[in-house]
Amino acid sequence: MNYFSTRNKSLKFSFKDIFLRGLAPGGGLFLPSEIKKYTKKDLKKLSELSYNKLAVEIIYNFCSKEIQKNELSSLIEKSYISFKENEVVKLKKIGDINLLELYHGPTLAFKDVAMQVIGNMYDHLQVAKTKTVNIVVATSGDTGSAAIAALSDRKNINLFVLHPHNKISNIQRKIMTTIGGANIYNIAIEGTFDDCQKIVKELFNEDNFREKINMSGVNSINWARIICQIVYYFYSYFKLKKSNVSFSVPTGNFGDIYAGYFAKKMGLPINKLIVATNKNDILQRVINTGEYKPNTVKQSITPSMDIQVASNFERLLFYILDENDNSVNSLMNDLSSKGVFNLQKKKVEKIKKDFEGIKITDEETENIIKEVYKKHQFIIDPHTATGFGAAKKIKNLGDIIVLGTAHPYKFNDTIKKAIGKNLEIPENLKLNVDKKETFDIIKNSNSEVKNYILSKIE
Ligand SMILES: *Cc1c(COP(=O)(O)O)cnc(C)c1O
Repeated sequence: MNYFSTRNKSLKFSFKDIFLRGLAPGGGLFLPSEIKKYTKKDLKKLSELSYNKLAVEIIYNFCSKEIQKNELSSLIEKSYISFKENEVVKLKKIGDINLLELYHGPTLAFKDVAMQVIGNMYDHLQVAKTKTVNIVVATSGDTGSAAIAALSDRKNINLFVLHPHNKISNIQRKIMTTIGGANIYNIAIEGTFDDCQKIVKELFNEDNFREKINMSGVNSINWARIICQIVYYFYSYFKLKKSNVSFSVPTGNFGDIYAGYFAKKMGLPINKLIVATNKNDILQRVINTGEYKPNTVKQSITPSMDIQVASNFERLLFYILDENDNSVNSLMNDLSSKGVFNLQKKKVEKIKKDFEGIKITDEETENIIKEVYKKHQFIIDPHTATGFGAAKKIKNLGDIIVLGTAHPYKFNDTIKKAIGKNLEIPENLKLNVDKKETFDIIKNSNSEVKNYILSKIE
């Protein structure tokens, strides 16, 4: 199986290439040249598998040239040992909502599900065998901690994590700045997540720098993350044993929900994918109006969704624009030159066939946390609460699975404010409370980040 770029279909890459690079040359995103389509009979067989076995079947479609199936199997087993749940994820009924808890990994967010596998893939693909790999990643709080947990103390790998200074929760920051080994560098950028992501993308596009430091990326634009996330859509769909299932997904960079879109492309009969956004509602707006226009980022009580440039949306655009790379280029050029692009009505209708977009304000989010606690004595984190809120606002969809994207403990200040309760530390959380936090504060500047990285590796 080969991969190409959303902005240039004639380029060809292997899984190993795209795993290492994350971003295609010229700024496009990678997509696979073939998509496995499961029949009803296949689905029936898959529905009988354990989580790990299902993960092997699905992920293998995308990397069969590079990783043998039995090797992938042991890689997956090893990756999910650190999870509290035997079956990695857990489906629960909370009133009339089906909650899929994805937060039982070492850093309490769904990011662990993909990142633990990715950490082991770095070793398995031997990408750092002869030369140190420097991974640079932008985080709105959870990707960073999951990447640190997965990559700390790995041989010949350094990890530079850029987070927006003072714009993530205290627990998110504490995890990131206390659990890493000597190969981990935390950088607090004086800016927003979009600024962090922009710097990382710019560094990737500077060939000299990228080659000089042997740069790699693990942001949600890395295809390897998406393929690991496809698995839990299949798994939870099978567990629910219903025939008309939709998913409501707390969304920022459009990575997690895109995995659901791909599951549907592979034959899983998902009804609707509901994009839940906070007040940074660019995705809600583009789905409902066709205008994609990033505003300035507003801080919210769901910091992991404080994003205006939803990078993975380009992967959807490619299919909405009938797989025409020139059309993708033209919209992306509009975006960079005019700060906006507009989709034709027909294209918006095409998106609406699979997606709904719903905005949930901070006030609504807080009320949902309160209400769910009052009615069910169950505590959900603010991100998950936006998924609940969006699911409640939509009528007549049938059964809905809400993706529980983080454990409430990660946002304990907000929970305290909403329900007046202090949460206990979950026992599987990797957190080193006795260790002094280490991070460096750096200006929102591409060259300052480059100098910082060079000073640490030379
Ligand atoms: C990353 C994250 C999201 C958003 O996921 P995307 O893949 O960026 O859309 C939502 N909730 C939590 C808790 C997250 O960490």
